[in-house]
Amino acid sequence: MKTRYLFSLLLALMLVVSCEKQKDVNDIQNAEVKKAESFEYVSEQFADLKILRYQVPGFDQLSLQQKKYVYYLTQAGLSGRDIMYDQNYRHNLSIRRALENIYKNYQGDKNSDDWKNFEVYLKRIWFSNGIHHHYANDKFKPGFSKVYLKELMNSTGTELKEEALEVIFNDQDRKKVNLNDETGLIKGSAINFYDPELTAEDVSAYYNAMEVDADQPIEKGLNSKLVRENGKIVEKVWKSGGMYGASIDKIIFWLEKAKEVAENEAQVKGLELLIKYYQTGDLKTWDEYNIVWAKATDGDIDYINGFIEVYNDPKGYKGSYETVVQIKDFEMSQKMAALAKEAQWFEDNSTLDPSHKKKNVVGVSYKTVNVAGEAGDASPSTPIGINLPNNNWIREQHGSKSVSLGNIIHAYNNAGSSGRLKEFAYDEDEIKFEEEYGQLADKLHTALHEVIGHASGQLNPGVGTPKETLKNYSSTLEEARADLVGLYYLPDTKLVEIGVSPDAAGIGKAAYDGYIRNGLMTQLIRLNLGDDIEEAHMRNRQLVAAWAMEKGSKDNVIEQITKDGKTYFKVNDYEKLRALFGELLREIQRIKSEGDFEAGKALVETYGVKVDQELHKEILERNSKFKSAPYSGFINPVLVPKMDENGEITDIVVEQPESFAGQMLQYAEDFTTLPDEN
Ligand SMILES: [Zn+2]
Repeated sequence: MKTRYLFSLLLALMLVVSCEKQKDVNDIQNAEVKKAESFEYVSEQFADLKILRYQVPGFDQLSLQQKKYVYYLTQAGLSGRDIMYDQNYRHNLSIRRALENIYKNYQGDKNSDDWKNFEVYLKRIWFSNGIHHHYANDKFKPGFSKVYLKELMNSTGTELKEEALEVIFNDQDRKKVNLNDETGLIKGSAINFYDPELTAEDVSAYYNAMEVDADQPIEKGLNSKLVRENGKIVEKVWKSGGMYGASIDKIIFWLEKAKEVAENEAQVKGLELLIKYYQTGDLKTWDEYNIVWAKATDGDIDYINGFIEVYNDPKGYKGSYETVVQIKDFEMSQKMAALAKEAQWFEDNSTLDPSHKKKNVVGVSYKTVNVAGEAGDASPSTPIGINLPNNNWIREQHGSKSVSLGNIIHAYNNAGSSGRLKEFAYDEDEIKFEEEYGQLADKLHTALHEVIGHASGQLNPGVGTPKETLKNYSSTLEEARADLVGLYYLPDTKLVEIGVSPDAAGIGKAAYDGYIRNGLMTQLIRLNLGDDIEEAHMRNRQLVAAWAMEKGSKDNVIEQITKDGKTYFKVNDYEKLRALFGELLREIQRIKSEGDFEAGKALVETYGVKVDQELHKEILERNSKFKSAPYSGFINPVLVPKMDENGEITDIVVEQPESFAGQMLQYAEDFTTLPDEN
């Protein structure tokens, strides 16, 4: 299962005061932040889509052997790129190739609306791996006529079968995945997993009759197309020598190379099984592979590669081809390890009632990785987290791996938010400091929230789990508790002592300003006017910010200021605000430890749910000038091998592609592995 990033999260706006302490840490981190800041995250926008770039932090820290491992795995991944197009729709490859040929060779007028619409149409195909919208599933309509396309074809000598040409313009195969029974799950879906003449009942009957081990069931039908041949229903298996065999042979070629430079035995064993699976198509081997893969947790590099998620199949059997290659997030791992080591100190020194403190606390392990390359179902539209394998009995008996894709989330958060920052920050100082230090404070808060926050505190003897006692308020209260642990410790000199923070007061200030502003204002841009807040994280942020605002009002801890008719929230007393966060943390832990439903409910309902309508309206108006496409995807960095005169790789460097179109055409040139029809 994957976490899809459906809307751009608002970056918490932050501020840091510079300080001479911890010069070395400060310098390193400033350098990193500066480098990141000058990076251009947004490549371009068209239709309802935004194309972003991501960096690969940590790549330079890898050994040459590790770099090769990453490189071979990404080459393996891209070798299956064509499969995704063909899986999505049987005409996708021929249409894409015809339009690419026009795009490269057309010499006529490129200023006309027709041509611009043609370009957008082709880019949308690249984005969706086919002619259906990647998210909405509808076939998108071209902004040009059939006559115009024929002109382009004639002038560039491009050929396309009549049937494929027609479907660009007609109403046939309108939905990629149709879940409406009346139109027929198979007949109504353009997806290329079944003979169109098969019915949902045929498919069910076929797979129900297939016998599998009841205790250790394979993922039936995961790697094949179901067709009728000579009156009999059979699977055309995706394997070497079978359907998509040409692509799969290329994948195997690169996996073999990867195997030679793998980091450890477990990785080698995994790759051997994955290769064997691609050679045989045997789903028992796929399970064996996943068991080894789930347990292979050593090393700095990991990947997924295979037919994995079944969302594109209206019947839920067939896996879409997908691959992601990842590197350990060294910076975040170092911070988290440093925090986890001190977990007991944080527990002992927190504001919790002594009876609610754990005597032996263990930091929660939380994994972030950085993506080095993606293809297939994961590209250009990407997950932000991965939790695999999918097969339930393997998860239960052998475990699973769960990671969040740090650099992808980071790119989302930093794409085009500077205008918003200027709009909602109180003054120039805040903007300046946020731009210089915000990212660091953000990362540190996440690390504290995950590693220390969720691990902290204990229930009173005999009290049920929070799900039982606090019911529908348990998630909001748990997120608030973890956030508060982070907020309480962000200004603590302990963080400087253990080397994760350059400046306690500065980081604290940055985090506090950002948290208050987000909790009371900017997060509301994701909500429609008149709606209550429903989502747990949003509720928790408003709860924390609004509670602190009210409780600190007599000391003017947080001040609401109107400047040129616009509302701002300014923190006046950071010490007192910290004490308030500590107080609320203690209270929410008490609620959890005692299972005090009424008190929990009152907190959430009073501070976390209702929205000030006047303020919300103002925020939406102020935000309306920042136009942003609803869906984002990514171009991949290019891994460029440097060779010596003997053709040996001496180094691999990361470069950014110039444009989306440039990368898509390059991929077509380097990774065309399948014929038009399969
Ligand atoms: Zn959390």
